[in-house]
Amino acid sequence: MIFNEPLKHRPKSRVELHVHLDGAIRHETIWEVMRQKGLPLPGNGSLADLKEAVKVQEPKDLAHFLQAFGIFLPAIVEARPLSTESVCVCVSVNHVNGSVNGVKEMVVDDILDAVLKGLSHGEQQFGTKVRVILCCIRGHSEWSWEVLRLCEEYKERGVVGIDLAGDEGSSSENESFTKRDPDMAVFEAAKEKGIHRTIHAGEAGPADCVKTAVEMFGAERIGHGYRVLEDEEIYKMCLRENIHFETCPHSSYLTGSMQSLSSPSKRHPILRFTEDEVSFGINTDDPTVTDTRLSDEYKLLMRWGFTEAHLTRANFQAALHSFLPPAEKKELIDQLQEAYGFVHFTLPSTSSSTSPSGTRTSTPPPKPSVTFGTWADRS
Ligand SMILES: [Zn+2]
Repeated sequence: MIFNEPLKHRPKSRVELHVHLDGAIRHETIWEVMRQKGLPLPGNGSLADLKEAVKVQEPKDLAHFLQAFGIFLPAIVEARPLSTESVCVCVSVNHVNGSVNGVKEMVVDDILDAVLKGLSHGEQQFGTKVRVILCCIRGHSEWSWEVLRLCEEYKERGVVGIDLAGDEGSSSENESFTKRDPDMAVFEAAKEKGIHRTIHAGEAGPADCVKTAVEMFGAERIGHGYRVLEDEEIYKMCLRENIHFETCPHSSYLTGSMQSLSSPSKRHPILRFTEDEVSFGINTDDPTVTDTRLSDEYKLLMRWGFTEAHLTRANFQAALHSFLPPAEKKELIDQLQEAYGFVHFTLPSTSSSTSPSGTRTSTPPPKPSVTFGTWADRS
């Protein structure tokens, strides 16, 4: 491993596993589409005012964070809500007006077809491989079986997994996220069918949500998961199970997750994950409303003391826990090795993302000499 060699001038390959397509639309595109459709624009109707209105300025809570979507979702209402990642894209198939059978299904398939065509076109044009994760929404379990159907039917075209998102806080902890949760059966069926599973948990909700996601829903990755640190036992279980955390630094503040974190330490959970060599990746979540790019997320972590070695490790972990089919995953690892100048890096004996125990590099990166990165320190 060549961790100490400056990587500044090397082409970087970054792996992102958690970015929502409807949260990753250029402000310019939203502005253009809203004008074309004659939709009301915020402020004086300028692009600048739209940007200001869409950006979540200061942390509050997840509900407030999601409110920002209300401004621009009318522009893409048919495609709502879609989520992206550089390697895996989340497309949550949400039937905004959906009640008519037949028509509804056709619309949903059409949307997914269009998304997949667009991503394939983008891959050819720019070389960025993007895959799709279809997202069930908490509180709308009536859609979940159809999401699973789409996962199966579009497997060969780039749908690689299923997700469950939505405001954990809005559903009663005892009702919506328990054994009787109807989504649980969908996730069990997904596991049986060999469909990869990730779940948003421990962001607004407590550590118990992470436990349920892993133990009851069979999640292989956790979206966010910061509040897992509120319960050492659950955290240890995640380490044992080699759960990958899809962390989203800026989003974690803007959704208020950091404010509700009742961990004794006031440090960001990503720092603890790093120290414990937990598998985690770095993601943007919703760049439209966070107004960040992936490079901003990296810069924030570097201000907290992360070195290129830590970022590199996160990228390899994300690649190893991506939901790509084994051959494509190997190809991705090979590409990363080449980009980062590594000679020896072997895939874990099983290429399944559930047991990449051999993912640690032969020379582990040094622990970060991080004290406490503050949110105020972000710019
Ligand atoms: Zn998310």
